[in-house]
Amino acid sequence: MEPILEDAPRSFDFSVGENQKMVAQMARDFAEKHIRPHAMEWDEAQYFPIELFKQLGELGMMGVLVPEEYGGSGFGYAEYVAVIVEVAKVCGAIGLSVAAHNSLCTGHMLAFANDGQKQRWLPKLATAEWIGAWGLTEANTGSDALGMNTTAVLDGDHYVVNGSKNWITHGKSGNVAVVMVRTGKKGDSHGISALVIEKGTPGFTHGKKENKLGMRASETTELIFDNCRVPKENLLGKEGEGFMQAMQVLDGGRISIAALSLGIAKGAFDAAVTYAKQRRQFGQPISNFQGISFKLADMATEIEASELLIMQAADLKNRHQPVTKQSAMAKYFASEVAVRTATEAVQIFGGYGYTKDFPVEKYYRDAKLCTIGEGTSEIQKIVISREVLR
Ligand SMILES: Cc1cc2nc3c(=O)[nH]c(=O)nc-3n(C[C@H](O)[C@H](O)[C@H](O)COP(=O)(O)OP(=O)(O)OC[C@H]3O[C@@H](n4cnc5c(N)ncnc54)[C@H](O)[C@@H]3O)c2cc1C
Repeated sequence: MEPILEDAPRSFDFSVGENQKMVAQMARDFAEKHIRPHAMEWDEAQYFPIELFKQLGELGMMGVLVPEEYGGSGFGYAEYVAVIVEVAKVCGAIGLSVAAHNSLCTGHMLAFANDGQKQRWLPKLATAEWIGAWGLTEANTGSDALGMNTTAVLDGDHYVVNGSKNWITHGKSGNVAVVMVRTGKKGDSHGISALVIEKGTPGFTHGKKENKLGMRASETTELIFDNCRVPKENLLGKEGEGFMQAMQVLDGGRISIAALSLGIAKGAFDAAVTYAKQRRQFGQPISNFQGISFKLADMATEIEASELLIMQAADLKNRHQPVTKQSAMAKYFASEVAVRTATEAVQIFGGYGYTKDFPVEKYYRDAKLCTIGEGTSEIQKIVISREVLR
């Protein structure tokens, strides 16, 4: 009988590369200096700090995977994961926006644009001169993306786009969006195409900004298309390839949401350990109680397991190997761990964890997005089980 999982344990190289260390240090320093002092204020005000993303762009963190010839940093997935983790340790919302810009909009163009299209858009995105958005989800079709209603009909040299997209990160502030549109029959996986639509194109506006539970400094809005004429040359790849492209983009994107989850879990864990050592009850630090120290043991174990799944997926992606199952596993596991870790961190802080004076309530709110965005946990289990049952 053919083994379903690997029949022998795999060996891994656990060394951390010099670039990875350098990038992690740079992202950590930046996050401590420019994000931590403002994170709660931005969260409360639901303020999207666009100027911060320009600074991140100057440091190469908005085009981590983009080759240097297109103005990016030219790094691989290990360095990309390091950036997202370090930013998310301090603020999940900024981590989400960095991830959506890098892997969704920019990542889609990187994988499927022709050279002329890359020359046109990637240098602006990689330096954050432009902020990118990516539109797949609609009001009635989230998990079931094939049911989308937004259409694009060819009229001479233009596609005429009508419909709307919901829950789009950077839907208002984004300068350009990769938008999945229906060019064929509803429900047909070959009936979807990917168009690049620039802000300012007549008929392209944004709708309401969502008032969210967490990730509040990451902007989420609706995109609206009303007879929006998009030049034919803005089509990525061929007509009908958009759904397949989107699924491949999500394979990479899920590694970044797993990294986002890992960063949030690490931030919540660090806060919980520090607090458990300081807080005294019954004449001793609460970390002396097994009820607390065992929570920390579970949190630490799950965080390290997340990290291993993420690095496995990152390694496969760097080597251009199939990664669908491993990125879904990393995203599913790491996001659920982030929620469990943040929940236990609030518990360890007791009543103080329930206030905005300490950071753990924000980790708790931010973490929940990770089990929903870029495919819910249930959808990840569908992806994983499909691969296992192949
Ligand atoms: C903050 C935020 C940012 C986002 N950014 C973007 C973005 O930039 N671009 C973009 O395109 N989208 C974005 N999204 C949308 C996100 O990807 C969707 O919300 C997500 O895919 C789930 O879709 P839905 O909300 O319509 O839920 P639904 O698909 O309606 O799911 C509702 C529930 O039913 C479950 N369910 C659905 N189908 C099945 C099934 N077959 N079996 C078992 N359970 C099932 C789901 O797991 C979930 O629990 C964002 C969402 C949020 C909250």
